[in-house]
Amino acid sequence: MVDLNGQYRKIRWQVNREIKKVIKSSSFINGPIVKEFQKNLQEYLNVRHVIPCANGTDALQIALMALDLKKGDEIITTNFSFASTIEVILLLGLKPVIVDIDPRTFNIDPSLINNKITERSKVIIPVHLFGQSCRIEEIIEIANKNNLQVIEDNAQALGSQYKFSNSEKQMTGTIGDIGTTSFFPSKNLGCYGDGGAIFTNSDNLAYKMRGIVNHGMYERYYHDEIGVNSRLDSMQAAILNVKLKYLDKYNKSRQQSAHLYNQAFEKVEKIQTPFVESDIDSHVYHQYTLKVPSEFRDSLAEHLSKNNIPFGIYYPLGFHEQKAYKQEFFSDKDFPVTNKIKDQVISLPMHTELSRKQINHITNTIISFFE
Ligand SMILES: *Cc1c(COP(=O)(O)O)cnc(C)c1O
Repeated sequence: MVDLNGQYRKIRWQVNREIKKVIKSSSFINGPIVKEFQKNLQEYLNVRHVIPCANGTDALQIALMALDLKKGDEIITTNFSFASTIEVILLLGLKPVIVDIDPRTFNIDPSLINNKITERSKVIIPVHLFGQSCRIEEIIEIANKNNLQVIEDNAQALGSQYKFSNSEKQMTGTIGDIGTTSFFPSKNLGCYGDGGAIFTNSDNLAYKMRGIVNHGMYERYYHDEIGVNSRLDSMQAAILNVKLKYLDKYNKSRQQSAHLYNQAFEKVEKIQTPFVESDIDSHVYHQYTLKVPSEFRDSLAEHLSKNNIPFGIYYPLGFHEQKAYKQEFFSDKDFPVTNKIKDQVISLPMHTELSRKQINHITNTIISFFE
């Protein structure tokens, strides 16, 4: 699904040099390189504050911890995402209120949010799934009307730009009150281990979250609140600093691969290629996900396995059906779209090193299945 080694080979010299520098400095935690990366990411995203942390799940948890919520407060989010998005809500004793998705983009359907708002609603967590920004403008509007805060889960869409109705563009993750991301190796900007970051334009929230990531400590050994230990280590920051320079190039290359896939599947009636809602920069293809009729999905997967072509089923279930989160307040009839989509999706190899030859091989193998 990814080719991290191929990518490394092209930047090996720089990465090795930067790692050696960190080892030589012995400044493994909170070294100057972490600050440098923080500054570079702030500039790239055009956001006032970046707070590095240990991973994308922590980033979401810390964002929620910063909002002074009470047990039982309601957090509205999508029903179709990676586990982290709902997990942190439940871990903090908050109540997840999950919303069905847009069948074209797999992102939260903003038109279904209003019905879910109660006097206990406090936050909306939209996810920019598979690399495509969700309809964040509508979500912000709903949030403003109802006095809710917005945390964008941007783990899959770093570098994506949302185009507002006035044609202005803004980086996803910097539009809501707080944005979060993950530097897990396979993400669009990945390190060589775990890593994450939180973004905000609010000085107050940034101050608060800088304390929370560091045991609630604002003055050395004085703990003003219960925090966590969540750090990005210097080695990962050094690697990310090298790779950040290439992020736009990496995302372009994903978009080009998606274009080649789209062209190849154009005439295959049973395949629906990814729908891009806004303009091209709004989708950075963390995943390239097809929809096929549900009766063909599993046999197509088997056909790919037989031909040694990797694929992924993201995600086999909506949150409402997962054993761990299944709660009496989820009702199956609220999720007709997720229930249909989960049996239609199949994601193909998508990364920065895909060659035309590999794409031809993958698309020919799939087309032959449908012939
Ligand atoms: C990967 C991911 C996360 C979590 O990131 P980790 O760094 O693995 O903790 C959160 N949300 C979404 C949507 C993700 O894809």
